[in-house]
Amino acid sequence: MIILDYIKHYRCTLCETAYPPPVDFYTCPTCGEQGILDIEYDYDALRSIVDRAYFARETERSMWRYYPLMSVKDKNTRSLAVGWTPLYPTNRLHASIGIESLYIKDEGANPTGSLKDRASAVAVLKAIETGNTTVAASSTGNAASSLAGNAARLGLKSVIFVPKRAPKGKLAQLLAYGARVISVEGDYKAAFTLSKAAIDHYGWYNRNAAINPHMVEGKKTVAYEIAEQLGFTLPDWVVVSVGDGCTIAGLYKGFYDLKALGITGRIPKILGVQSEGCAPFIEAARKNCGLEESNEDTIADSIAVGIPRNPVKALNAVRYSRGAWVTVSDEAILKAITTLGSQEGVFAEPAAAASLAGAEAALKQGIIDKADTAVLINTGNGLKDTQSVQDYLKGPVRLKPDLDALIDYIDHEEA
Ligand SMILES: *Cc1c(COP(=O)(O)O)cnc(C)c1O
Ligand SMILES: [Zn+2]
Repeated sequence: MIILDYIKHYRCTLCETAYPPPVDFYTCPTCGEQGILDIEYDYDALRSIVDRAYFARETERSMWRYYPLMSVKDKNTRSLAVGWTPLYPTNRLHASIGIESLYIKDEGANPTGSLKDRASAVAVLKAIETGNTTVAASSTGNAASSLAGNAARLGLKSVIFVPKRAPKGKLAQLLAYGARVISVEGDYKAAFTLSKAAIDHYGWYNRNAAINPHMVEGKKTVAYEIAEQLGFTLPDWVVVSVGDGCTIAGLYKGFYDLKALGITGRIPKILGVQSEGCAPFIEAARKNCGLEESNEDTIADSIAVGIPRNPVKALNAVRYSRGAWVTVSDEAILKAITTLGSQEGVFAEPAAAASLAGAEAALKQGIIDKADTAVLINTGNGLKDTQSVQDYLKGPVRLKPDLDALIDYIDHEEA
């Protein structure tokens, strides 16, 4: 296998020191936990292997079609079928929000129902590579359920730290996948801190996304797919919601790789969306300063991250792509869930629907132009958190099992 030969080094996003492989630490030894590493590839060598012909030839219909561009030693044919999710051109939604051309990248179609599978599938392979039999993470839900599912599939144990208010659907997934679940009394910050201490103590493989540079390398495959599925004609905008900042960092990295390989000529603008009740990135971008801890006051649990762990990569994704940041209210998120569902048949969890709410806000503010092409990333399946939308919507109507009563109701409704 030639794969690791393409990793040139791991570069610290703070002090910019480059560490040649093999690297057996998660973060920069000089900068500590803040020193998130970025994996840099030998694009000169890769260019002769991965070109447009490579994609035309490749028959694998999962994210492993990209494995030469990834940081794993080998793909595993026993993995869950992560990636190669649908990219739907919208049938009605573009007209109703007033944009020329709109697509939905439906990450809810992944095996455990979210984009997090792209990182977790890599995490379990890295754990196996490094001889670990237990993987661990703290998560608002999806990172955990996807880690548990992907670990179960390959016969690894998982230990998961979740904040107290994780939605039931995500907890049920964890338990069904056989994870050891620790529900931490407190918020995500508390779960993160405890997981870190436990991982240090037991030596489990750490899937905490920001700390582990390989997670972004999994998530970046979503950008490759968007480019490929659009025939390498890139959209003007890609819209994604932001919690820790790893997803948006992965998105940027994927488009960056394609450009560095000469497969595409530019990087789409990236719109980062946060909740009004938890918007540390918007604050930092507005004040042009470092991130400050924020409240975690939103129904969009997957992006309720008061202390984002991947600030540099996420801020750079928006800055270098010449993108923008917007915030959206919980009300707008709930409305967006029903719009995505009723106009396109795509069911999104709150954090995922935030992308539509964000695109609408950006259109209104003149950030996105109505002549633009945009891709919304539906980061997670609505079945993971049915409670908030059920509370929001009226219905169902309750009727006696009687045709006259039904006719009366329907004719009255339609009148
Ligand atoms: C994790 C997640 C996000 C945000 O990803 P970060 O890497 O935390 O920024 C958005 N939507 C959903 C559904 C998620 O699970
Ligand atoms: Zn450093």
